[in-house]
Amino acid sequence: MSILQKLQIFAAWIKQLFSTSKIEVYQPTKKYLGEDDLASYNGCRENLPLVEVPLEFLDDCIRDMIRTMTRPVSRSIGHSTGTPEGRYHTDRDVDLWHRQAGKNGIGYHFLLGLDGKLYLGRPLNTVGAHARNHNAGTIGWAYVGGMTRDMRSPKNTMTSEQIALAERLIRTLNKYIPHIEHQGHDEVGNTACPSFSMQDWLNERGL
Ligand SMILES: [Zn+2]
Repeated sequence: MSILQKLQIFAAWIKQLFSTSKIEVYQPTKKYLGEDDLASYNGCRENLPLVEVPLEFLDDCIRDMIRTMTRPVSRSIGHSTGTPEGRYHTDRDVDLWHRQAGKNGIGYHFLLGLDGKLYLGRPLNTVGAHARNHNAGTIGWAYVGGMTRDMRSPKNTMTSEQIALAERLIRTLNKYIPHIEHQGHDEVGNTACPSFSMQDWLNERGL
């Protein structure tokens, strides 16, 4: 065996070790889309929860999820993650926090990253865990943020990317779930979440 071959085997071993430990540390059941998956990506697959959805597939993704949805849904409830302005978090963090809180993984169906990335949380056909007494019949989504940097006060910290993504998400839900209504968490619970008036926000955008 040449030195080059030995190096290649060693490199493959390191790569495998790295990828395995990464999955174990964060979430054993989680699968991320690789480049090969993206090449054949065709809408959203329910058996791959907790993935980042390329935005060009958002519409197809939601359409496919709704077509296979058997639970009735009539409302969406918007949240913030209750984290400081500007602090970056992904679905992995939220999934971990919610597991630590005794939930069966991430409680939201959609997570809007600071950079405008859309993360899939729970499959749409699975009841969420995001608003007490209002999980049945609803879709839960959250933007990362919602608090001032010092965590003293609720604040609408949505970035322009998050605003654009939230608008797109709501428009797509409206398209595929006729008569769906949208609420903020504060409309159904004793909370400041999502740190802005959902109804004003919807009205301003004609949603
Ligand atoms: Zn909330």
